[in-house]
Amino acid sequence: MYVAKCTRNESFQQGRLSDYGNIKLSPAAGALNYGQGVFEGTKAFRREDGKILLFRPEQNAIRMQIGADRMCMEAPSIQQFVDAVKQTALGNKRWIPSPGKGSLYMRPLLLGTGPTLGVAPAPEYTFLVYASPVSTYFKVKSPLNLYVSDEFHRTTRGGAGGVKSITNYAPVMKALLSAKEQGFSDVVYLDSVHKKYLEEVSTSNIFLVKGNVISTPATIGTILEGITRKSVIDIARDLGSKVEERSIEVGKLMEAEEVFTTGTAMSIGSVGSVTYNCKRVKYKTGNDLVGQKLYKTLVGIQVGKVEDKYNWVVQID
Ligand code: PMP
Repeated sequence: MYVAKCTRNESFQQGRLSDYGNIKLSPAAGALNYGQGVFEGTKAFRREDGKILLFRPEQNAIRMQIGADRMCMEAPSIQQFVDAVKQTALGNKRWIPSPGKGSLYMRPLLLGTGPTLGVAPAPEYTFLVYASPVSTYFKVKSPLNLYVSDEFHRTTRGGAGGVKSITNYAPVMKALLSAKEQGFSDVVYLDSVHKKYLEEVSTSNIFLVKGNVISTPATIGTILEGITRKSVIDIARDLGSKVEERSIEVGKLMEAEEVFTTGTAMSIGSVGSVTYNCKRVKYKTGNDLVGQKLYKTLVGIQVGKVEDKYNWVVQID
């Protein structure tokens, strides 16, 4: 894993790779006591010729900077972030699965590690990147069954829902565990003000398809601006679909022809059903659907099989 440190109001020192292992931090660390932490998720892929590819790592760097600003933390520069991810991928090269088998998931993590007894920004920050190989999800074969929660909300206006803060994830576990106990795969969250507009899923964004129109909730600070979401919007427009980013009433889910989710972990996940207010709607799933066409193009670009006209892929060796 890669580790770098900095003190408040200063730049990060040069980091270095070390063996994966525990980190030492003060019991009074800002991250432990007040949730001062943001993280990212990005992948390295092995191309057929063995070369290693990253997908838009600078977008993760920018999102970490925005998140760090929201949580009053220092952040690494874009260059340092991308360099750290590259070093981590190359340092773990032997763990990167062969093409089609999976990828190396990397977790950049920024924590307030210095002690602070009162509620205030920590005096020291640690930026680290660790990694784990992950296999490819085949969600076409096992589509997601989503549950719409009107009891739990992920975030609220003016909160930190728009950034990838560590504080956004423990609060969804209750909803997620309860949904899983009832046999669902994940939860769709609604806005906390009107309780009727779609926001997102626990760790992915949501898209609805009807005719030639693809719609997804607009990013107004309460949902995470997914990098997969952004990429899929560009690809879909180029493939001739009309894409709308807007507020979407939960009822629209019931009228959609197809629903899919986007996120780094599973890229695009087909949704087989959505349950809201005890009503279950089923969707078409299969290879000829919009989500699958987008999946093939996106994953094709990521693994170097489809021409990358967007310049999204970075070859690192
Ligand atoms: N929403 C949330 C809450 C997430 O945690 C993630 C995963 N990072 C996403 C959406 C999807 O974002 P991305 O496409 O950048 O992985």
